Amino acid sequence: MPTTKKDSFLYGENYIRIFFSDSQDYGDFHYIWLRHNCLCFKGCLHPKTKERINDSSEIPFDILPRTVIKYEDADQFIMEWEDGHISTYKYSFLQEHNYALNRRFTQITNNSTKLAIDFQEFIKLYPNDDGKLSNEGRLVYRQAVAQKLKAHGIVLIRNSNEKVTNDDLDASIEHKLPSTRPFIDVGADLTKASTYPNTPPDIHILLPHSDTTTEEKHFFVDGIQAATYLRRKDRRIIDLLASVTVKFRELNQVTNAPIIELTSDSRTQDDYLNITKVRNPKFELVPVGIPFSCMEEWYYAYNCFNDFLHDPRNGLELTLKKTDLILFNSSRVLYNGIIVKGHRHP
Ligand SMILES: [Zn+2]
Repeated sequence: MPTTKKDSFLYGENYIRIFFSDSQDYGDFHYIWLRHNCLCFKGCLHPKTKERINDSSEIPFDILPRTVIKYEDADQFIMEWEDGHISTYKYSFLQEHNYALNRRFTQITNNSTKLAIDFQEFIKLYPNDDGKLSNEGRLVYRQAVAQKLKAHGIVLIRNSNEKVTNDDLDASIEHKLPSTRPFIDVGADLTKASTYPNTPPDIHILLPHSDTTTEEKHFFVDGIQAATYLRRKDRRIIDLLASVTVKFRELNQVTNAPIIELTSDSRTQDDYLNITKVRNPKFELVPVGIPFSCMEEWYYAYNCFNDFLHDPRNGLELTLKKTDLILFNSSRVLYNGIIVKGHRHP
């Protein structure tokens, strides 16, 4: 029997999550779906034939509930809508029509601490006779770097030294990415080097400015995580960006490709896509081959994705000191700029 415990529902942006205490399950229901599927006889169902007589086109698409009323011990979930209408649903009805059973919707993470590895810690644990990193230590270190790259697409190496770069190159190879050599960039020059929509390097190595005396702030966003998150919110956005080819222009080179690339066995109608590559939509690009009827929709999708990627709440802010370096997979993690001496560069 459903109870009136406080956590038995949660408001979402355009849906409500209802918990079913008898089964430990929950369901997410769009407000528009609930309002349309109202079971009342005051305009929604015909009192005699019980046929649906309301018309979804007459309900505001962005309708919100004014309040949720729940009666103790009653098998009823009652919602009052902002248009004054009151809907009563039986829990059994909601469970039978639970079209998003236990849906998972993971918020995008911007926890930068779990991206970091301290090189000096490995030396402490695995020193050789000269007080440097032993061969065994190198192996463990490379595996740690490769593991972070695989999990997050990016790793921040603290307290590195000059010799570490070769190990990092090995780590990228252990990560079993294709054999393109990593690009090594210094500070703000990365923005130039990151304009490779056609064949971005698999691993980008970012070093701080050699003349940096303070700390540099670098901004990244996990493009694949962002696309996956957005798709669960509004699948049209990502499906359009994955299916429409655009013309990227960089210097004199032109690349025709979609912003989002999927594995060949992913179809845009699947719930879970395998996204293999996200091209930074800040590249100079022109949509081509889009039917007239889809052009506005494509721009809507493009703008949503671009705004989402550049929203600081979705990004990773990494502070680079002189002895640090960053490795990232540029098919997945997009560079979002740098702050040097108080000035942000795109
Ligand atoms: Zn009704």
